[in-house]
Amino acid sequence: MLDAIIRLMLFHLMSRNRSICVYCGSQSGQRPEHEAAGRQLGRSLAENRIRLVYGGGTHGIMGAVAEETIRFGGLVTGIIPDFLKSREAGDNPGLAFDELIVTPDMHTRKHRMFEKSGAFVALPGGIGTLEEIVEIMTWAQLGRHRRPMVLANIGGFWDPLLQLLEHIAEEGFLHSRELIQPLVIDEPGGIVPAVLAAWETADGNGGDADIIDRM
Ligand code: AMP
Repeated sequence: MLDAIIRLMLFHLMSRNRSICVYCGSQSGQRPEHEAAGRQLGRSLAENRIRLVYGGGTHGIMGAVAEETIRFGGLVTGIIPDFLKSREAGDNPGLAFDELIVTPDMHTRKHRMFEKSGAFVALPGGIGTLEEIVEIMTWAQLGRHRRPMVLANIGGFWDPLLQLLEHIAEEGFLHSRELIQPLVIDEPGGIVPAVLAAWETADGNGGDADIIDRM
């Protein structure tokens, strides 16, 4: 009995470790390579048996990542606030998530995405994407987690944000800089290997379950 409980606990721990939250545009943007990067990431997640956790949108780069994860046999958790779900419901019947979580509001949604993920990736996107990844960096700065954060710098998309972070640091406003070290990855094929490598390190992930509860 005790054995079974321990195995179940280990399974839950491992499945959390093997989930990546992807933030990205709800639109496709101007450059085809951005959506292509989303598709490549979706395939790579599926092939590496890593669950996609994302905002549940069915359009733009969000839809592309989820579609491709599912197409290659991967697992997808969509976490969407009620007001967005009714807007999107039935829009893309091709997207059969194995887990859809509907939350009462945006704040609950962001917290659920955080709880369920062992790493965070920002693909190109708009202000929603920007806000989400910056919030995750803020929580890292405050010592609330130590999970890998990736800026998928496709075609230099995030260069302006990296420059802004440099500027903020030079002006003396970035405290605990060592806690805010996003991995900057230029090629979509490099994202999953970078996260896997970070998970391999001692406290790449998983050591902060108690911290989540206190946020
Ligand atoms: P944006 O980058 O402004 O397009 O916003 C994308 C981010 O905000 C995603 O990572 C989602 O979490 C959230 N989001 C924005 N629009 C939607 C939508 N229509 N459906 C689901 N999530 C959305």
